[in-house]
Amino acid sequence: MNAMICQCCGLSFSPKARGTNRDQSKSGDYCLDCFKDGEFRDHMSIQEMEKKLLEMAKHHDGLCMEEAEAAIKNLPDLKRWKMTHIL
Ligand SMILES: [Zn+2]
Repeated sequence: MNAMICQCCGLSFSPKARGTNRDQSKSGDYCLDCFKDGEFRDHMSIQEMEKKLLEMAKHHDGLCMEEAEAAIKNLPDLKRWKMTHIL
């Protein structure tokens, strides 16, 4: 099974790390870092998400700079951020 890509942070996550919906079912779109109990854990903008990914890479917090840059490139296509492009 392919790794899923979180539709918020752009990082891949394992089925175990899926976020949870309000009814405690598992989200197919978001990782647990981003989405819990039917709500996003951070109310951040896409720019803030970019910053967060770069910070994580800088501190070697689970991803390297290449992965962070690849994720950042994908952000505008993700479900969470598409809406901000319509506005
Ligand atoms: Zn995520």
